[in-house]
Amino acid sequence: MDAAHNAPEPRYWEKIRTVADTLRELEGPIIVVSHVDPDGDAIGSSLGLFRALQALDKKVTWIADPPRFLRFLVREDEYSDPIQHVPEGATLVVLDSAEPSRVAGAPVEGFVINIDHHGTNPRFGYLSVVDPSKAATAQIVKDLIDALGVTWTPEIATPVLTGLITDTGNFRFANTTPEVLHTAAELVGYGVQLAELTDRLQWRPVGYFKAMGAVLSTVGFHFGGLLVTAHMPPGINEEDSDDFVGIIRYAEGSQIAVFLREREEGVKISIRSRGGVSAQAVAVKLGGGGHVPAAGATLRGLTLEEAYPRVLAVVEEELRRAGYL
Ligand code: 5GP
Ligand code: MN
Repeated sequence: MDAAHNAPEPRYWEKIRTVADTLRELEGPIIVVSHVDPDGDAIGSSLGLFRALQALDKKVTWIADPPRFLRFLVREDEYSDPIQHVPEGATLVVLDSAEPSRVAGAPVEGFVINIDHHGTNPRFGYLSVVDPSKAATAQIVKDLIDALGVTWTPEIATPVLTGLITDTGNFRFANTTPEVLHTAAELVGYGVQLAELTDRLQWRPVGYFKAMGAVLSTVGFHFGGLLVTAHMPPGINEEDSDDFVGIIRYAEGSQIAVFLREREEGVKISIRSRGGVSAQAVAVKLGGGGHVPAAGATLRGLTLEEAYPRVLAVVEEELRRAGYL
């Protein structure tokens, strides 16, 4: 792990208190948003904060498009459609978004509060709490909800725990600190049905299993197996593509895994790494960002055939830097 990117926010609790005091005193509308391609942490942290702010009787709106596998967490009437402008006097709370361009559903304008754990976050917004030492934005939201003084319920604790579960790979990744496990224990204590939640989080539509066969037939090994790649074959339409990188990353001997998926705007890549190799470094060189072990980018304007050599060249550089080549 790259320590520089995982340095804790030095004035963390002071910032949490400032954001909590600010939110508590707000009388105008609050709009909660997170990032495009929302994952469990994006949905979990934003839904948890939305419900906590509702419990404080705030005028709060949650703008989101929850993916199918997370929809079970959400009631139909809880999420709203995208907006073109943030109304005068409103506060925009942005969660888990590494950069303003990743924010989905609202333009980043007006009074912005930025809460995130990506080391590459440029600390945009009027107020920000960006702590890359946290496993999930949901961990920061847990502290914020405590600071707001909201009484925990299973409805608030369940999405927050979901963010912790999904961003730690079910408490298996290196970011699973004692703090994460303590927080998880506390949230389960607030009435989360853990077995039911973890079961539901693994449900996938039938099409996913068909797509998996097609995706796995594209697996490629490069640099003597240090890099494993796969892509979504053209014509296969499956939303839960981040899962596929989570499968190929376990190829024995691999230090980095890249999953490619052709989209309208270019090729979206998901990168995972271990053993001193930085997925983040690769992503940044390709115009994206993320965490040291898990990152991503979109190669705009490229086709799948053009994206592969570009990815291989940048990964080769990173494998050299890390001493594998
Ligand atoms: P995933 O591969 O699951 O889409 O993303 C892995 C991590 O990298 C997530 O933390 C995500 O926020 C980040 N990430 C993915 N794509 C991009 C991107 O295009 N730009 C930036 N800055 N971060 C990204
Ligand atoms: Mn996250």
